[in-house]
Amino acid sequence: MSRVDVVVVGGRVAGASTAMLLARAGLSVALLDRGRRGSDTLSTHALMRAGVLQLSRWGVLADVVAAGTPAVRRTVFHHNDGEDVSVSIRPRAGVDALYAPRRHLLDRLLVEAAEDAGVHVLHEATVTSLRRDPTGRVTGVVGRTSSGTTIDVAAGLVVGADGIRSRVAEEVGAATTWQGRTASAVLYRYVEDPGPDAYEWTYGTGAAAGVIPTNGWASCLFVSTTPVRMRRLRRLGVEPAFAELLAAAGPAAVERVRAVRPLSPVRGWAGVPGFARRSSGPGWALVGDAGYFKDPITSHGMTDALRDAELLATEVLAAHGGVPEDVAMARYEETRERLSRQLAETTERVAAYDWDTPGIRSLLRRLSSAMGEEVEHLESLDLLGIAT
Ligand SMILES: Cc1cc2nc3c(=O)[nH]c(=O)nc-3n(C[C@H](O)[C@H](O)[C@H](O)COP(=O)(O)OP(=O)(O)OC[C@H]3O[C@@H](n4cnc5c(N)ncnc54)[C@H](O)[C@@H]3O)c2cc1C
Repeated sequence: MSRVDVVVVGGRVAGASTAMLLARAGLSVALLDRGRRGSDTLSTHALMRAGVLQLSRWGVLADVVAAGTPAVRRTVFHHNDGEDVSVSIRPRAGVDALYAPRRHLLDRLLVEAAEDAGVHVLHEATVTSLRRDPTGRVTGVVGRTSSGTTIDVAAGLVVGADGIRSRVAEEVGAATTWQGRTASAVLYRYVEDPGPDAYEWTYGTGAAAGVIPTNGWASCLFVSTTPVRMRRLRRLGVEPAFAELLAAAGPAAVERVRAVRPLSPVRGWAGVPGFARRSSGPGWALVGDAGYFKDPITSHGMTDALRDAELLATEVLAAHGGVPEDVAMARYEETRERLSRQLAETTERVAAYDWDTPGIRSLLRRLSSAMGEEVEHLESLDLLGIAT
């Protein structure tokens, strides 16, 4: 059995970032992920300003850019009334563009940054249960590698960054503190699309679409609607369902992608309502989707995961510096909750797909204001010397 200060379960945006920040501050950290190193995952890739700000401050953005990720300089909103709105990304907090890196790139770069900071990283390593001491405090993880070797790591803190079906959350019985009701079902594919500099979102009749420029001279093109409507449409086949939802999103969406060539098959996500879970207890904490998940229609999951990695790392370090663990962890959850509330509530309403054009415009304004508050908070964070 090995022993570290912190073992992180799950090595993507939330887990790799948390591990990296803690190792930069001098803690011994192990990072375990059941997936293969550099593997892909479901995503439409769009990072918002707060997410780009985090990558920039951590010194990871330069590698994202060097890998050919296109800069996004505008966000364009198309609506049913034909009145498009184009918003330029104004320079703020050192961020003058947004980016939507492919996940096999972003997650790999974060894992490499963690390794550079001294994190011991193990892929194809599945955590199956937690160790506990006689008081019930979590004291480590147990699992196995893909080749059948047993994993047994003792740790002062176990961080579950293992996604919406978090094993860590299940093992500790983390209570649900907020349960959403609405959800988006999504279809997406990559299309050849060199040169665009904008995220484009289209909101139509009970459906939305988006075009998100990513690596490889490609854009990620998605359509979304309610799970009920998606299930009905998918009986026609995935291509007809895709075409029908694109048309429902509106003529701007159809026109925007009329001439593009598909580069991949369509991938689908059936939809899961948002939730928040109690995210800390004796010897454990949750970060990223494991602790707080909201519908992907507002493209904010990764941005929140990068934010929460820093919120959690800051409080873990405070606890190491002498603040009682329960006080520090309560602060982590309180800050996450405060910064997430408006985004989560608004996302919930967008994912209902029952809005008209004035309704969705007003929801988008609320989102924008919540995102502004989030950036302000991150700008004000005392980084405790862990940024780079
Ligand atoms: C269709 C779709 C589109 C999306 N589009 C966007 C978008 O445009 N912008 C955006 O910001 N967000 C988007 N999101 C949300 C975003 O993908 C998530 O919020 C983000 O991936 C959360 O990161 P995470 O690190 O918390 O968890 P995950 O990315 O889910 O990573 C969890 C990791 O834990 C590992 N793991 C799980 N269980 C174990 C175990 N027992 N042992 C070891 N390892 C384990 C998994 O292998 C995985 O690598 C989208 C989501 C979906 C479904």
